[in-house]
Amino acid sequence: MRAMVSRRPSEPLILEERPDLQPGPGEVRVRVSACGVCRTDLHVVDGDLARDRAVVPGHEIVGVVDAIGAGVAGFTPGQRVGVPWLGHTCGHCAYCRSGRENLCDAPLFTGYTRDGGFASHVVADAAYCFALGEAGDDAHLAPLLCAGLIGWRALRMAGEGRDLGLYGFGAAAHIVAQVARWQGRRVFAFTRVGDEAAQAFARSLGAAWAGDSTMAPPEPLDAAIIFAPSGALVPLALRAVKKGGRVVCGGIHMSDIPSFPYLLLWEERQLISVANLTRRDAVEFLAVAPRAGVTTEITRYPLDQANAALDDLRAGRFTGAAVLVP
Ligand SMILES: [Zn+2]
Ligand SMILES: [Zn+2]
Repeated sequence: MRAMVSRRPSEPLILEERPDLQPGPGEVRVRVSACGVCRTDLHVVDGDLARDRAVVPGHEIVGVVDAIGAGVAGFTPGQRVGVPWLGHTCGHCAYCRSGRENLCDAPLFTGYTRDGGFASHVVADAAYCFALGEAGDDAHLAPLLCAGLIGWRALRMAGEGRDLGLYGFGAAAHIVAQVARWQGRRVFAFTRVGDEAAQAFARSLGAAWAGDSTMAPPEPLDAAIIFAPSGALVPLALRAVKKGGRVVCGGIHMSDIPSFPYLLLWEERQLISVANLTRRDAVEFLAVAPRAGVTTEITRYPLDQANAALDDLRAGRFTGAAVLVP
């Protein structure tokens, strides 16, 4: 098998030829046909997320089952599956037992604490893989596996309000915007200063308004989700929501939040974060996405161009999502 490996933080990924993996009990081996590139991959590669081992990044995996370990039921060779960020949970901690496996005390994460999909093959815990059916092509489905799933969880946590702000209009926001529109909400898109391409992209997906993140929306919002990894957006988003409004931080890592006047939080505004996903989120969202007519805009890169894909994501050089194709 081939894999793009992050040996040490902050170094470019290196293409390695490795012996073929064999799935252990409860695992499947998946031949990767597409793997999305997520901002969390950048945080893994850059060392923003602590680790002490080499890792194959990638947790938006679409592929076909090509080997099945002992004791696995429900998957057949050749079946198309998706492998998301949540790679394993313990099943017995207080969080797992209360329906919050996303907060498990002893989890494994695909492309971080177990090897992921920047590779020709990946071995995954079968209990955390999802059948994807036949509709849609592999590369366009890949961003649903994290940008879509985490976006969906963030959208649910934003509450039922009609007017929704999205800060950072990348892979997750472009999916969430479509779902929110389908739910009958109005979307207000905030981008980096001067990123008119992203603002036009947001309008093309039905955003009622698009501007840069230093601007106030034309009217106060019910809720906002911050996908960009900038803590400076937190006070801006709090300022943009109305009384009782909610600001959801959707990323796994953010720069520090600057101090801000308590007045921005007062009047029962709420500031919360989203961490990981549950398998229930995935089942729900994978059913919602086709009903909502979600389409993804992607830029394809060959697997060995993973470093270019990461650099382009860091620099905001494409709209939508990058997808590696082995
Ligand atoms: Zn991700
Ligand atoms: Zn647990």
